[in-house]
Amino acid sequence: MFSESPIKRRKSTRINVGNVPIGDGAPIAVQSMTNTDTMDIDATVAQIQAIQDAGADIVRVSVPTMDAAEAFKSIKEQVSIPLVADIHFDYRIALKVAKYGVDCLRINPGNIGSEERIRAVVDSAREHNIPIRIGVNGGSLERDLQEKYGEPTPEALLESAMRHVDILRRLDFDQFKISVKASDVFLAVGAYRLLAKEIEQPLHLGITEAGGMRSGSVKSAVGLGMLLAEGIGDTLRVSLAADPVQEIKVGFDILKSLRIRSRGINFIACPSCSRQEFDVVSTMNQLEERLEDVVEPMSVSVIGCVVNGPGEALVSDIGLAGANRRSGLYINGERQKARIDNNNIVDQLEGYVRDFIAQKEQQTPIDIKIVE
Ligand code: SF4
Repeated sequence: MFSESPIKRRKSTRINVGNVPIGDGAPIAVQSMTNTDTMDIDATVAQIQAIQDAGADIVRVSVPTMDAAEAFKSIKEQVSIPLVADIHFDYRIALKVAKYGVDCLRINPGNIGSEERIRAVVDSAREHNIPIRIGVNGGSLERDLQEKYGEPTPEALLESAMRHVDILRRLDFDQFKISVKASDVFLAVGAYRLLAKEIEQPLHLGITEAGGMRSGSVKSAVGLGMLLAEGIGDTLRVSLAADPVQEIKVGFDILKSLRIRSRGINFIACPSCSRQEFDVVSTMNQLEERLEDVVEPMSVSVIGCVVNGPGEALVSDIGLAGANRRSGLYINGERQKARIDNNNIVDQLEGYVRDFIAQKEQQTPIDIKIVE
């Protein structure tokens, strides 16, 4: 059971990264980046596949050399998800991967060099119908901006971004999206807020170098959450010093929390206390692991006693309210006559969730047989 998010999204133009639309009301795309050596084609393809299996819409691959561009060609031939090539400085790499079917170029026009080189990259992007992502980062601001502002500030990030934007505007190229990332939440949020007022193109959100699995997830949730709640953001990447697959999961969890985009189960579980009638923590962990493959949006509440159990169960697709020896089960908000044996909760709940999804997919009325 999901009610619509109250968030009103900022209006933007639309670009397409391969077959994935970005901006102008399109679902907020979730992306990650490989951290394998791009020259190791098999490892990179395997990681792209794993990221895709986790639900990613887009994957970015670093292409630092001309040799890596050749490896990219082979990688691109073996995967189906749209790929963004991450390129710094060397415009010849951009020209090469454009020919090899890249779906988006992450390159800053102001860093390419001469006007002739910039024009060559933009012409190639235009010819192959490839958008560009401008990526400004608080850690690599131009020296003159560092001197002007004394330190990275939202205004400095904006000025840096607008330099790149102005180049593309001058070349009459509007198929781009922009990020103004920083590892500091307030710096990034401030920069995105300024940029959102300044341009009409889609924004790629990220808190860069956010940290490890736990700290980076929290920092990203706070920063991206502030922006998304204001309607800012058209695609996002959670940057974690962790397996990129985790970045996708956390990205979807952030969107799910704001009811912007749903994928998989929205679990509601109490922290448990001495009133619990079954082991809530262990039940929750086992269910989360077992049902990780579910992509259908649905809500499942696992609550240890009747204090909050029935209330949460009433607004969940499937809900469990702990009771002595046999707990109460709710389906579609309706209390079932049959109860669940507290010794067999995980197996039974998993089965009912899978039945629920199967019946929903077949578009038959939900009618789950409860085994007592
Ligand atoms: S719902 Fe019940 S078991 Fe869970 S934390 Fe609250 S009082 Fe404790």
